[in-house]
Amino acid sequence: MNDLRIGLLAFQGDYEAHGKALTRAGVASSALVEVRRLSDIERVDALIIPGGESTVMGMLLERFGMFEALKTRIEDGLPVFATCAGLILLAKNIEGSDQTRLGVLDITVRRNAYGRQIDSFHSPVRTTLPQIGIVDGVFIRAPKITALGEGVEVIATHRDEPVMVRQGSIVAATFHPELLPDAPLHRWFIQSFLLKTQG
Ligand code: GLN
Repeated sequence: MNDLRIGLLAFQGDYEAHGKALTRAGVASSALVEVRRLSDIERVDALIIPGGESTVMGMLLERFGMFEALKTRIEDGLPVFATCAGLILLAKNIEGSDQTRLGVLDITVRRNAYGRQIDSFHSPVRTTLPQIGIVDGVFIRAPKITALGEGVEVIATHRDEPVMVRQGSIVAATFHPELLPDAPLHRWFIQSFLLKTQG
């Protein structure tokens, strides 16, 4: 990990919880970069896009002139771990919405898909990762993934519906893995995309 830097998109939302999860996963706090301007995007080796409000994050990326640079870096293989609003921001298709999105993840999402009465809940999530197994998924005004493009792999399901997916080096979850006490999915993300051993 020596000189790797992990960015937290830090306009709004629960990026601090992700920072704490990364710390629990063994990342030094000196390796964390709060990303708020264009130059920050150029100096990170991976990026977390937190939960929050996807419309606001999209708007601010445009307002601060970061949108194209971020999209290009992700298309060029920047590892990204996105949750909830972050997943919406990455999605190619958002049902019934023309909001700004990066469009780099070939999925269709439906926002606030569990209904207005159900603001948040937690429920077991089954991952396909043998070392992790089942985790406690916290869903907060969560979206649902309603269609998957080719090349999108399902990493976790809730009631047989996909809730965490991967496409290349993009990983996105509809729930909040940053709230898991031992941060297993952050550990997995780091090991899979940042600590690949040579040879
Ligand atoms: N409903 C929010 C959105 O559409 C996502 C909720 C969250 O990130 N917890 O952006």
